[in-house]
Amino acid sequence: MRVELLCTGDELVTGLITDTNSTYLEARLFDLGVKVERVVLVGDVRPDITHALLSAAARADVVIVSGGLGPTADDFTLECAAAAAGVPLVEDARVLGWLRERYAARGMSTELNPGQLRMARIPQGAEPVRNPAGSAPLVALTLGRCRLFFLPGVPREYKALLDAEVLPRIRAWLEAEPGRVYRAFRLLRTVGLGESVVDQFVKPLVPLHPRVVFGFRTHAPENHLKLMAEAPSQAEAEAALAAVEADCRRVLGTHVFGADAEEYAPVLLGMLERAGATLAAAESCTGGLISQQLTAVPGASTVFIGGAVVYAEKMKAAWVGVPPAVLERHSAVSRETAIAMAEGVRAACGTTYGLSVTGYAGPGGGTPEDPVGTVYCALSGAGMPTRCERRTFSGDRDRVRLFAASHTLEMLRQ
Ligand code: ATP
Ligand code: MG
Repeated sequence: MRVELLCTGDELVTGLITDTNSTYLEARLFDLGVKVERVVLVGDVRPDITHALLSAAARADVVIVSGGLGPTADDFTLECAAAAAGVPLVEDARVLGWLRERYAARGMSTELNPGQLRMARIPQGAEPVRNPAGSAPLVALTLGRCRLFFLPGVPREYKALLDAEVLPRIRAWLEAEPGRVYRAFRLLRTVGLGESVVDQFVKPLVPLHPRVVFGFRTHAPENHLKLMAEAPSQAEAEAALAAVEADCRRVLGTHVFGADAEEYAPVLLGMLERAGATLAAAESCTGGLISQQLTAVPGASTVFIGGAVVYAEKMKAAWVGVPPAVLERHSAVSRETAIAMAEGVRAACGTTYGLSVTGYAGPGGGTPEDPVGTVYCALSGAGMPTRCERRTFSGDRDRVRLFAASHTLEMLRQ
């Protein structure tokens, strides 16, 4: 099935907004095994929209159009659809009824103004579908052998109508296609490996799993591997998926922290909770990012007791007891300071583990031995020697801080 997307609106071609509607739909369609062939953005110019509709309909089996269904003067997508189909726009009694009901429910006048009336004018022969989240309806139209769907541009309405009306129809058409393909999916989430390293580990597996489509996605600081198995039956697709998943987990080891919807922080907290462990953190260059990530999880307090942002040297000494002599001799960004911070915060909070991180996030600072991007992170734990790691991350301040927090948390899993 060939699917194309067409998004209309001057705001999309003048840098005012980003086309998130397409991204949403591409992901939903990919889950059905359909890769969108083309996405076209067009400004609010009638002949351009009409032309784009005609050329998409000539190529594709399904075209999904967003925007320009509202009541304002720049909303004329359905006019262009009528022109492309060579039919007039006609007032649709069903749509008029839906609009009046909606306005009445909001205590508004059911006497429609000219703008509101425009929303009830659809190409002759088209099918309107009620919009549960707004006024302008979804409009379905057939042009030659191509099926077109016109949806409101407002993302909330677009998603609601896609999920409830458009995707089920596409799924049914796919199921009715001869030689139907069955699919099974798994998203493996990794952390601590660069994208190219994940690729290098996984590449040798690709020829061993001819029924599987491998997809890579960077979601800093994580890298995700999307596996889609295709087969003539669901059971074979599931079996092919199980085999490839086992192979990927074997080569990627503990870098895989979760699958599908599993997020990093809940996985980590769950692991510590099962071990009966508690945690505290002393953060310098990450300024609370670690605490933020952990406390974003409801119920985190059974594991994460708290911690401190000890940004200036004075606070490293005052709050987590880093000896002034250590700071003087080794500087605030050093192995010795990180170790003293981790041990200090663990002692202060009385936890099983203490984490710490200190580094040069940039853009200024750093030394010849420890350039910008260098961080030291440490893990102190009951009955184990304190571990410290030094890493140098590239990129801007935000990126260094993000990776520093991630790497520090990873010390608990690795
Ligand atoms: P309305 O009734 O609000 O006029 P409409 O169907 O006419 O709806 P547009 O006017 O084209 O839709 O867009 C409404 C708003 O929806 C835009 O101002 C924009 O904020 C958002 N929007 C439109 N298209 C997209 C898109 N492709 N991606 C993300 N947001 C979009
Ligand atoms: Mg509009």
